[in-house]
Amino acid sequence: MPSHRKGSYSVIIDLKRFFQSDGFSEKLTHTMDMSGMELGGVKPFCAPVEAGVSLTSFGGSVVLEAQVEFSLTMPCDRCFETVTRDYAYRFTHTLVRELASEEDDGELILVEDGRLDLDGLLQEDILLELPAKFLCREDCEGLCPKCGKNLNEGPCGCERREIDPRLEALKAFLVLEED
Ligand SMILES: [Zn+2]
Ligand SMILES: [Zn+2]
Repeated sequence: MPSHRKGSYSVIIDLKRFFQSDGFSEKLTHTMDMSGMELGGVKPFCAPVEAGVSLTSFGGSVVLEAQVEFSLTMPCDRCFETVTRDYAYRFTHTLVRELASEEDDGELILVEDGRLDLDGLLQEDILLELPAKFLCREDCEGLCPKCGKNLNEGPCGCERREIDPRLEALKAFLVLEED
């Protein structure tokens, strides 16, 4: 386990030499501290975020490819058990010094002064990609609406009838028919 860095480090990458020559390439690994980031009232980035980044200049722009790995520790949206889940995402961006047209197609990232805020970019990527629901596992059973038991640990014994009200009406009708 990498040691947990205290405080917030921000890495600024000077892209001038990339913009100046074609085929210039560099790989780097970067550890980010996102422990202060709050999501839904908790701070789920307990461990540092690990990023592998490659930068390649091409035609006056720079292609950035990043592989980020991190874990989230927070309560499940269904059963409220606190769990840690691992995630790995891959991002690609094209960095340019100027935009050819006023149209912003979202693919290009403008780095006017040639100084890339790597942490800012990666953190924004991660936050945009996070799942809308955080579940301890995809088939989490959640809590019993009656007694509140965590149904992942087994059934609670409450009667769990999930009958469509229309079927319920039909059932009553059938019973009447029998009589
Ligand atoms: Zn759960
Ligand atoms: Zn129950």
